[in-house]
Amino acid sequence: MNLNNNDITENIKKRIGGNRLAYVRSFGCQLNVSDSEKIKGLLKKMGFGFTENENNADIIVLNTCAVRENAEDRVFGIVGSMKKLKEKNPSLIIAIAGCMTAQEHIAEKIKKSYPQVDIVVGTSAINSLPKLMLDCLDGQKFSADIKEYDDFSEAVEQVRESSFKASVPIMFGCNNFCTYCIVPYVRGRERSRKPEDIISEVRQLVSEGYKEIMLLGQNVNSYGNDLSSDINFPKLLRMINDIQGDFWIRFMSSHPKDASEELIDTIFECEKVAKHLHLPVQSGSNEILKKMNRNYTAEKYLSIVEYIRKKDPEFSLTTDIIVGFPNESESDFRATLDIMNKVKYDNIYSFIYSRRSGTKAAEIQDSTDEKTKGGRMRELLNLQRNISTEHYKRFIGKTLRVLADGKAKKSDGYLTGKSSEFIIVEFEGDESLIGQFVDVKITEAMNWAVKGVIN
Ligand code: SF4
Repeated sequence: MNLNNNDITENIKKRIGGNRLAYVRSFGCQLNVSDSEKIKGLLKKMGFGFTENENNADIIVLNTCAVRENAEDRVFGIVGSMKKLKEKNPSLIIAIAGCMTAQEHIAEKIKKSYPQVDIVVGTSAINSLPKLMLDCLDGQKFSADIKEYDDFSEAVEQVRESSFKASVPIMFGCNNFCTYCIVPYVRGRERSRKPEDIISEVRQLVSEGYKEIMLLGQNVNSYGNDLSSDINFPKLLRMINDIQGDFWIRFMSSHPKDASEELIDTIFECEKVAKHLHLPVQSGSNEILKKMNRNYTAEKYLSIVEYIRKKDPEFSLTTDIIVGFPNESESDFRATLDIMNKVKYDNIYSFIYSRRSGTKAAEIQDSTDEKTKGGRMRELLNLQRNISTEHYKRFIGKTLRVLADGKAKKSDGYLTGKSSEFIIVEFEGDESLIGQFVDVKITEAMNWAVKGVIN
């Protein structure tokens, strides 16, 4: 008899009884965190509560990331150490999910070398988790599903990490094949969710009081390319903007090759879309951009920035930069510093290139030594520190709308939050304001944040 997921879930619930705990640990990006929220939703339906301590768990799920090779090694280390937990508690179920499992050789390695693992479940097979659990409870030693499915687990209720900030994946996979990146190989080709499903999820979140909706995709700008309806990302933004309620919309990531004037006009015209754009440049050198297969030049990138800055010279931009891509020359690196000086980012997320086997860039013989790369990284960070400190001064005397999201680490009685411009803002305030929008008048610029008083 073929059981559906609801029957399976009920069956598991009866068999495991009450008071069972799950430990779910997420590695890597926000898409993974969002997948973990779905995994938790499925586990909750099966009757599990949650624990932060793996020693107390009846099921452990590691939701892995494949972007960096050393992150994979770390996961193998953790899985190895779980052998002891399994010896102490043979009924413990250990499941590995996430991008690592999408590589067949990894799934094989887990099966062969880590007998303590019971379940392997791929990123688009999350909905199979109840079935795999049932196999496991029926005594099967190892069950796996790493197939690529097109249904996006729409029906899965999520256990969300925050009560006021929610991530909403709008698409999965990537078609871009940047030469340093493993994502297209582990998350498959681009698949967009239907706009009506996204809208109904956002509507539900807003009705529950969520204040920040983060739309996620590897390249949100190609949202809808694979759908037959006449929809694209700017249109989706406008549809979400029309939902009644007091909330703002963020999104990431936005590939510069597809960042259109229509997108920028939409950001400016939609009052709920946050006034910030994360536009990953990766390098300022056309030579390196070509080797990265990014499909834009520094000039094209700067023309997008110019279009934005004509509309608002102070508009907030952030970026990702890779330092030390194989054979990056001194002049390639200077071109990156040059673009930083021209754009004046509010913040950058920079990484020293890390070789990822399975990607094209991993095949390049690299002649740049690690010491040089380290020195370049320090120079780049120093430059950004100076740019941010100087640039944040533009907010002094202005009132920013801030979503308070927690207590400030160093100062008692202070809260921290992010403004619509994605600037960290610290201000004195009562904890009851966490999760609320607050107007803060900025009095001081630091090199990583601004300070202010509630208006
Ligand atoms: S756009 Fe490039 S860097 Fe981003 S996920 Fe796709 S391949 Fe990776």
